[in-house]
Amino acid sequence: MKKKLTLFVDKSMIDKAKKMGMNLSAVMENALAERLNVKAEVGVMPELILKVSCPKCQAVRNTSTLKRATCFKCGFTYKVYPKNGPTRIIGIVKGSRAILAKRARLV
Ligand SMILES: [Zn+2]
Repeated sequence: MKKKLTLFVDKSMIDKAKKMGMNLSAVMENALAERLNVKAEVGVMPELILKVSCPKCQAVRNTSTLKRATCFKCGFTYKVYPKNGPTRIIGIVKGSRAILAKRARLV
């Protein structure tokens, strides 16, 4: 069973890791598993890729986050799955509605 953990890491490192397309959850979990000398179950979290539309210019992009996405076209940053207000999700590229619902509870 997986549990959500919030870590405080220097922003510059997070930005760099994101730019490199690193899966930070997997990296952290692997490092922790190594320290604890247990086997990490990395990759158990099913993959979810969503099609989202920019509220400003309607440009469509794919994203794996339910948090914030930045529009490639106009640079506008918006919440993919806001607690209040309309969702920006217009389709599911990879995954299912069930995975989306499960992931939404962690937002
Ligand atoms: Zn846009």
